[in-house]
Amino acid sequence: MTQIEFYDTRTRTRRPFEPLEPGKVGIYTCGPTVYAEQHVGNLRSRLFSDLLKRFLQSEGFEVTHVINITDVGHLVSDADEGEDKMEAAARKAGQTAEEIAAHYTELWRKDGIAVNCQPPEHNPKATEHIAEQIELGQRLEAGGYLYRIEDGIYFDTSKFDRYAELAGLDLEGQAEGARIGVTEGKRNPSDFAVWKFAEEGVQRLQEWDSPWGRGFPGWHLECSAMSVRYLGERFDIHTGGIDLSTVHHTNEVAQSECGYDCHPWVQFWMHNEFLALPGDEKMSKSKGNVKTLNDLIARGIAPLAFRYFFLQAHYRQQQNFTDEAIQAAAKGFKRLQKIALDLESVEGEGDPAVQAPYYERFREALADDLNAPRAMAVVWDVARSDDLAEVDRRDLLRRFDPVLGLELGAPAETAAEEAWETDPRIDDLVAQRTTARQAKDWDTADRIRDELAAEGIEIVDSPEGPRWRRTSE
Ligand SMILES: [Zn+2]
Repeated sequence: MTQIEFYDTRTRTRRPFEPLEPGKVGIYTCGPTVYAEQHVGNLRSRLFSDLLKRFLQSEGFEVTHVINITDVGHLVSDADEGEDKMEAAARKAGQTAEEIAAHYTELWRKDGIAVNCQPPEHNPKATEHIAEQIELGQRLEAGGYLYRIEDGIYFDTSKFDRYAELAGLDLEGQAEGARIGVTEGKRNPSDFAVWKFAEEGVQRLQEWDSPWGRGFPGWHLECSAMSVRYLGERFDIHTGGIDLSTVHHTNEVAQSECGYDCHPWVQFWMHNEFLALPGDEKMSKSKGNVKTLNDLIARGIAPLAFRYFFLQAHYRQQQNFTDEAIQAAAKGFKRLQKIALDLESVEGEGDPAVQAPYYERFREALADDLNAPRAMAVVWDVARSDDLAEVDRRDLLRRFDPVLGLELGAPAETAAEEAWETDPRIDDLVAQRTTARQAKDWDTADRIRDELAAEGIEIVDSPEGPRWRRTSE
């Protein structure tokens, strides 16, 4: 069997993957800052970590996946300046930071379910792990890595020899090009806040006591502190978007390797590339070009079609997010879904010996640094094969699916058309309207349609018959 190999950002090499503890894999993924709806670019990161987890599970590993929830400390500028994103959103909405966090955490969770991501084993919130973060801060202080300036406690990055290692940073260039407006008193441009003081006279929504004074943790501290809590001082794989590597992940490494005296802290750093919008733009909330899963659903794209779209590109390649590409993916997904569904009605037993080389090609593709497009090519070879018996095609698609998470072969209502809702009362009214129409009783049919419309419910004709959705909420 082909050995699993992954590309590691830190060493810039592909290496055979071996977990620290045989049979078990710990994965940490930087999760959402819950102050706004997540965009499909964030969802790509989530899908990537889910595919990684599913593949490792299919290889027999017991995977512990941690995705954190950032609900404090992420400032508008990643350079420890500006307002806290949570505080800003709460102020704007006239709500508490907890209400904002609860609302967007729920949306994030629902998005994950819609695209069939497995729930993480641990989903810790930064605000519920303040003690762990302070404890790590104290370790760093004892090691002589921290210094105090007016607005907080900072990490002196010049005291950590490997600071530039993860992202291959040019620290001298950074020092020369240091921006004006860099926080006054910082010893090096790359130094970052471990603890920020609450500004005097400004009542923050979220602040805590600490050995250094009242305030709140720096954004990076939570990931170092919470990964240790749930995965131990060293673990196997850390994932996240490539944009996190130069600051956030670099700072996580500094804190963890200095705080817990270990190296390498993480065996494999796996970063996914961006979703690129037409014209090479990066999707970001600050640019206002954000697309969310709900935008796609409103345009008739099923969430699992977005998952299918994601599988068409290697995670380390930029993927073009265009209308055309999404529509093509939606069509391709429907075709595959239909083939799988039709094969589900085939009876009898397949021949494992015939199936083996196909499954091996599928797993080889994923063992090759998670090459999803190549794995999908095998899926399509099987789906369209003239050589394979139908039972073998059926069995192979059934074996691929737990890794792909596409719900192939599941009835449309529970998979591809997941965007449709069900409600016994409304389903019943829609069915009555269909019966009335078949009987050419247009008055009754129209009356039911109007009644539902008054409730904000729209009836839509779909290939599976009339369905309904809420037009307003
Ligand atoms: Zn993180």
